[in-house]
Amino acid sequence: MKNTEQIERHRYVFKGVIQGVGFRPTVYRCAVSLGLKGFVRNERSEVVAELQGPAAALGRFPAALQEMLPPAAVLDRTECASIPPLKEQTFRILESKATAFSFPPIPPDLAICPDCRAELFSEENRRYLYPFITCTQCGPRYSIVEDTPFDRDTTSMVDFPQCPDCLAEYTDPEDRRFHSQTNSCWSCGPTLELRGADGTAVEGDPIMEAVAALGDGKIIAIQGIGGFHLAADPRNSETMNRMRRDKERERKPFALMVADRQEAERLCRFNEQDWEQLKTTASPILILPLADGAPAHLQAVSHTGTLGIMLPYTPLHLLLFHYPDVEITYRHLVMTSGNLKGEPIVTEPEEAFAKLTDVADLFLFHNRRILFRTDDSVQRLTRGGQRIFLRRSRGYVPRLIQLQGALKRTVLAAGADLKNAPALGRGSDIYLAPYIGDLEDPLTRRDFERQIHKILSLYEVKPDTLVYDLHPGYHSTRWALEQKIPRKFGVQHHHAHLLAVMAEHQLEEVIGLSFDGTGYGSDGTIWGGEFLLSRRDGFQRLGHFRPFALPGAEAAVLHPLRIALALLKDGLKPQELERLFCRQYGLAEQQLATLSEMIDKGVNTPLSSSLGRIFDAASALLKLVDTVSYEGEGPIRLEGLALDVFDGKPLRASASCSDRHVTVEQGQGPFMIDCRGLLRYLAESFCSGAEGETATAAEKTAALALEFHKAIAAAALEGARRMRQETRISQIAVSGGVFQNVLLSELLLPALTESGFQVYTHRNIPPGDGGIAVGQVYFLPGNE
Ligand SMILES: [Zn+2]
Ligand SMILES: [Zn+2]
Repeated sequence: MKNTEQIERHRYVFKGVIQGVGFRPTVYRCAVSLGLKGFVRNERSEVVAELQGPAAALGRFPAALQEMLPPAAVLDRTECASIPPLKEQTFRILESKATAFSFPPIPPDLAICPDCRAELFSEENRRYLYPFITCTQCGPRYSIVEDTPFDRDTTSMVDFPQCPDCLAEYTDPEDRRFHSQTNSCWSCGPTLELRGADGTAVEGDPIMEAVAALGDGKIIAIQGIGGFHLAADPRNSETMNRMRRDKERERKPFALMVADRQEAERLCRFNEQDWEQLKTTASPILILPLADGAPAHLQAVSHTGTLGIMLPYTPLHLLLFHYPDVEITYRHLVMTSGNLKGEPIVTEPEEAFAKLTDVADLFLFHNRRILFRTDDSVQRLTRGGQRIFLRRSRGYVPRLIQLQGALKRTVLAAGADLKNAPALGRGSDIYLAPYIGDLEDPLTRRDFERQIHKILSLYEVKPDTLVYDLHPGYHSTRWALEQKIPRKFGVQHHHAHLLAVMAEHQLEEVIGLSFDGTGYGSDGTIWGGEFLLSRRDGFQRLGHFRPFALPGAEAAVLHPLRIALALLKDGLKPQELERLFCRQYGLAEQQLATLSEMIDKGVNTPLSSSLGRIFDAASALLKLVDTVSYEGEGPIRLEGLALDVFDGKPLRASASCSDRHVTVEQGQGPFMIDCRGLLRYLAESFCSGAEGETATAAEKTAALALEFHKAIAAAALEGARRMRQETRISQIAVSGGVFQNVLLSELLLPALTESGFQVYTHRNIPPGDGGIAVGQVYFLPGNE
């Protein structure tokens, strides 16, 4: 029998989000409570602990640690080995030791925790109303990091040496700020300043003055965790007009920060699961349907029937909503990225003054340097609780995507041009950079290069392989081709989307739906409605939506009625075409003639199989959008309307698309899904004012929008069945920007499961182009 009093020594290696979140102190407290000796230490990529004591006490350690784990810590992996006992008197937290390994874990930025929040508003506390209160469970992390491992010296908190009181907390193992690298207070920490647009300091308490100014309709540039926001009270229509005009943002919705749950409930419809997600430590923006009876002024914030809301996630934000003895008239504020159109968000005060003075009346900023730019993360949840990332940034970077097996190479992936986010893979880790933006903008391109440079030096890796998109016109591709990295591969866009899902689920082979707006096809045409057999080293195009013309190329994307015309032209006689497009949709006769000729002769009309563009065409036919003012405007409005009349029931597994005006052509090559009949049906139903019709125009439009979604879901289901028939594979991956559409997911995914497919969707990265670099990393050339 084993002697439970026998002295043993165990060596633990922990991986996950465990640096900078109070993990070592927890190990310390846990070990001490069990009477164990030894040490705990951060190493580059992990936390290592050696524990020594009686076998029985050692045996209790894992469960006890699990019990005491701080909320912000996430343990991905724990390894334990027995090693020979040493002479030990105490348990110690040792200084970090730098060792070469894969990726050192840097924690993501964390929203203010309940304990700090309570202290912030407690008059007796020495940090009462201190705008930079933090602890081991909350505060900035990734955005202030300069080097690894995560210690005060390697962050911008190095500018603020701790005062004796803070140091006492920092060194006391019993204190909740023990080893809190961001620890500071009124006497030693960062400070806040409020200045006018001309740079002159505003007298008085900066927060009190800011609150008053916001209430007065002023726009304030506020420095946050990963960059500046522009804040304003949306009840003031003049302010909103000014904001839209000066920010050149005609209709694109703004995000709101809401005071608390009560306010969130007043503005939006949400359930408990949405609420849980809103108040996670990542504190994302969640897109939710507008509540019935939501205030009318919200129309100026968002015209889509949905609203992106978030909670105050820093102490400074909280103080803007709750400040003692100050009357605060607003309960929600627009909080939109502080940037110029198309550019990255501003991170430095000087830059803010240089760029935002046309928009902002005042600047509320601090002297804690932002070293890594992050935007607010944006998400949606399906009814089933599936999380869909629209933008992955603050709160999620730099969490790693962990693979079971190891990558053979150190791989850098450039991503795609829209919503760019590069990635880096090494060992069993894939690091996905935060959302960077559209590389069309030169400053964003500079940011892209900077981010790559910074992450390579932070992680001290030198990639030997570079992967990029096949699109020859992409800036990211051109950049990649210039780099001096020995091995380079171009990966097809829609294949990369599916590879990204495969990486998240460790799959080697799937059939997949890869639906988005635009991607360069391997035949040189524009793809975007693809049914692919996907493997690590390549793909086969089994099917796609029937290609159609984009008259005027980019102009068609901007004016989607042109796409609708291209889709309807074949099925209608010239007089019918004229009656429909000129009389009903207001196209000039001359324009119709010109466009028709362009389509017939193929002049400046590239072909596309993009499902995103079919959504655009449908939204134009329902008169939801004329000139597109932001990416996805038509589809977002189309979905918003349809969701309003959706009963929550998924498609039946037996659903057929031919009942819904969609046909499938199967010849020698890939099958083709033809939506022309569906769009004709939409146009004709929309324009017919049948006698005795009782539904209002709005109801009819919503019903048609829902019918459109159902038809597309049925078409996707049909395509999936055909792929399975051909390949005998029933593991199906689903990706691409079209799957930001919650309604499509809710209609389609349960029907796929019910039809016997194993369905794989994204869990921790966006289905859009912001996740594509993960797939590029996962690509494995055939000869390896
Ligand atoms: Zn805290
Ligand atoms: Zn202090």
